[in-house]
Amino acid sequence: MCGVFGIFGHSEAANLTYLGLHALQHRGQESAGIVTSDGEQLYAHRGMGHVIDVFPTDQIDKLKGNMAIGHVRYSTAGGSLLKNAQPIAVNYARGSLAVAHNGNLTNAESLREKLEERGSIFQSVSDTEVIVHLVAISTQRAIEDRVADALSLVQGAFSLVCLTEQSLIAVRDSHGIRPLCLGVMRTEPSCYVIASEASCFELIDAKFVRDIEPGEMVIVDRRGLRSSHPFAASRPRHCIFEFVYFARPDSVIDGVSVYEARKNLGRALAGEHPVEGDVVIAVPDSGVPATIGYAEYAKLPFEVGLVRSHYVGRTFIEPQQSIRHFGVKLKLAPVAAVLTGKRVIVVDDSIVRGTTSRKIVKMLRGAGAREVHMRISSPPNQWPCYYGIDTPTRSELIASSHTLSEINQYITSDTLQYLSLDGMINAVVKATNGTNGSSHRHLTALNGPPATLTRDSFCHACWSGDYPVEFVPHPRHRQMRLLDT
Ligand code: SF4
Repeated sequence: MCGVFGIFGHSEAANLTYLGLHALQHRGQESAGIVTSDGEQLYAHRGMGHVIDVFPTDQIDKLKGNMAIGHVRYSTAGGSLLKNAQPIAVNYARGSLAVAHNGNLTNAESLREKLEERGSIFQSVSDTEVIVHLVAISTQRAIEDRVADALSLVQGAFSLVCLTEQSLIAVRDSHGIRPLCLGVMRTEPSCYVIASEASCFELIDAKFVRDIEPGEMVIVDRRGLRSSHPFAASRPRHCIFEFVYFARPDSVIDGVSVYEARKNLGRALAGEHPVEGDVVIAVPDSGVPATIGYAEYAKLPFEVGLVRSHYVGRTFIEPQQSIRHFGVKLKLAPVAAVLTGKRVIVVDDSIVRGTTSRKIVKMLRGAGAREVHMRISSPPNQWPCYYGIDTPTRSELIASSHTLSEINQYITSDTLQYLSLDGMINAVVKATNGTNGSSHRHLTALNGPPATLTRDSFCHACWSGDYPVEFVPHPRHRQMRLLDT
């Protein structure tokens, strides 16, 4: 779960990238970076921490040029180190290249081994660096062909933005696992922007044009914008966890309103698992729309029973174990006026290890709740993600080794229920209706009608174990992690 941003043709490219990254901060808080180009050379700055800390004004002023890419990161492949921060920027025989990547490659280690055998030297353990090396050794001439050539060798998930001295390139893997979309500045129609989520466009006064299609490459240079499909078409498998948890609720991804999807998840959950209660509360923030949907369907009052502090990161994506232990109390506080003496239905989007849910139940009871009924707006999370989400190993996922009643007992709730896999998929597909009309008008004009999403258009491997791209564990994975710690 990283965020990428790109812009071409604006005198304030670095500033707008800074703002774009700020609006994508929810996708990663570990490091941030921007690379710009003035047409002749690249300028780069990266640092650990939040965008606002990495880029003081004087630093942004040094990033010259009218095109830029940016990245916010949390670590999946590779450790939490500055050398793994992105965009990765290099000089090679044909010029300069910077790459910002959201997703994980499933064959990165075997490719890295082959590259090292033929002499490549890697600076980081990030799988993105593999792509950079493959571009550098490609025998193709044009940069877009070199990028396509490199990406034809990799497997897994990638939503990429690349910057050369004179062009911006955006590419999405052929399953479209991670999101990527195209926008245009309202005041400068020839200035294109690319981002992981369209929710960042409002802040920079850009408007959403369309999603980058699975397997599509978009090239922007002084000749304008053009699109190609260098990879064989595959069935779309958009990450459904984006709709459950990761994406911002004001985003529309692949024609699905994240907000509507979450409300539908809550409605479906209430339909599948009703329970008598006095009040429905959310685990904020990502659980709020599903809770509204649950309360609406159940005809029960929605109240704010937990208040979230916005000054700490989300514990689930916080990579340091030490912070996780403090996380819940730092992050959430109970509202006794809402909870005292009540039968409380609490809606959350997922249970990972179970430790957070256990602390929440304890907190609610401590504030006076008479009963606590936990409802989860996704199925039991049993499988790790290999495509860019930092889920724990299978053995750490409580649902991989515990039954429903064991989990209920562990988290000490009165009752616990999860939404079914079918219920989750249907709820997200239903959120397509009515939202993609306006979003895709431009797509229809530019590239033909949008693909229709069906139940088969999503990756749901972390619940079902049905992985769209095979992952073969490589012994180097363990070795690299040891080196990093
Ligand atoms: S395994 Fe889960 S988190 Fe990973 S891409 Fe698939 S649905 Fe998303």
